[in-house]
Amino acid sequence: MKNFRKNKTFIIFILTIFLSITSGPLFAGGNVDKTDEKIQSSQNIEAKYVFLFIGDGMSMAQVNSAEIFANSLSNQDIQIQKLNFTRFPVSGLTTTYDASSFITDSASSATAMASGNKTLSGVINMDTTKTVPFKLITEYASDKGKKIGIISTVSLDHATPAAFYAKAASRSDYYGIAKQIVNSGFDYFAGGGFAQPKGKEKDQTDIITILTDAGYTYVNSRENFDALKSGDEKIIAVNSFLQDSAAMPYDIDRSPDDLSLADYTRKGIELLSKDPEGFFMMVESGKIDWACHANDAGASIRDLIAFDQAISEALAFAKQHPMETLIVVTGDHETGGMTIGFAGTKYTTSFNNIKAQKMSFTAFNTKILGPYKAATPKNKAKLADLLPGLKDAFGLDFESLTAFQKEQLELAFQRSMGNEMVRAVEEDQYLLYGGYEPFTVKITQLANQNAGIGWTSYSHTGVPVATFAMGAGEELFAGYYDNTEIFQKLADAMNISTAN
Ligand SMILES: [Zn+2]
Repeated sequence: MKNFRKNKTFIIFILTIFLSITSGPLFAGGNVDKTDEKIQSSQNIEAKYVFLFIGDGMSMAQVNSAEIFANSLSNQDIQIQKLNFTRFPVSGLTTTYDASSFITDSASSATAMASGNKTLSGVINMDTTKTVPFKLITEYASDKGKKIGIISTVSLDHATPAAFYAKAASRSDYYGIAKQIVNSGFDYFAGGGFAQPKGKEKDQTDIITILTDAGYTYVNSRENFDALKSGDEKIIAVNSFLQDSAAMPYDIDRSPDDLSLADYTRKGIELLSKDPEGFFMMVESGKIDWACHANDAGASIRDLIAFDQAISEALAFAKQHPMETLIVVTGDHETGGMTIGFAGTKYTTSFNNIKAQKMSFTAFNTKILGPYKAATPKNKAKLADLLPGLKDAFGLDFESLTAFQKEQLELAFQRSMGNEMVRAVEEDQYLLYGGYEPFTVKITQLANQNAGIGWTSYSHTGVPVATFAMGAGEELFAGYYDNTEIFQKLADAMNISTAN
């Protein structure tokens, strides 16, 4: 694949000559200008502006559920409403297994895309001995003079964004990863904050101090963010409200004060696009994954639609620079074993159940269940107390549940309140609740099941993901290939040699 770009240029060159010959003398009259123009454009088929959008935990069930949901907003017909990126002219399928498992984690998957190499789960841009660092697509692009932007809804030191600027034996070395922003010298980091801003033991120099001392400008208010303008360099822009683990809020929980992934993408374009060499921008929607770990389809679908809105910002830019812009959209793996279909609902779905959901499982824990637990002794806890909140937050009407579902919900409620239920056989708590708040995960499971959405896991799964592309070099992304190949395809599109 390394020579694809050269071959393509050569083929177009031959074609141009052929067309020139068939349309008249090669160097005569008005044909000269036309020929020159064609040769020039063939030499310029190079992606100057590159967007790599990564939906964390996003495979086709996540994408298709968002398409069904989007359609259900306007009608009840059995049809889908395509998203911006599912309309792209080129699509492919991408395998995601890593060096240690058929079921990758986000660190090794992002390593594959960023460096072209497989490694162990948990490792960022180092080989399987955790000693040899890899060179990254962002480093190659930076060497070529491009500006680099890294955006994520989760913390900037989390595995996926980290893999586009850092190298670490362990993804959980958040502080050590964040410090590598300084050496990267990259231009725009935006979205979530930092998971361990003062280190694991909270005894280190604050990462914001380190970054600002190194020349970065840190903004965490909408006002200062809005004031950023083209020409401003080395920016760290963090959302003022961080919901959980220094991440931006789920889009379903986003208030008008919060910036969106689309806002951060649009600003990135504004800040980086004036550079004569263009830019490489990685934009991650990290909480599609988190929602799917918790089996919360409502939160996943809304984050996926917000992700698509961020992609629409790239599309608007691509319309202005159609010959020079490449947009690639992919997932790093599937999460949750999500599917359209559930044993209890057989061939039917009801996405109205998903539409009725008003907050994520996280917000429900914070706003409704948490305060109730704090105020209620466990021997006074009654499921009836929370049924109005259940109806309001998830549109789940207790009386509409089956006797079996009611029992499951009561059991989960008592577990959440710390009451042990007497059962004939001790149940597997992990299989039931996956380490989450039992009551909340049971609510989302029941709501999702009634919608016809099934889950098999609280972890990632090993199925391939879909990759979509449009713009300069789009044809490289057709077919069935491994995630390590995305690195080389991006390099080829940018006309970058990765030989050294
Ligand atoms: Zn992931």
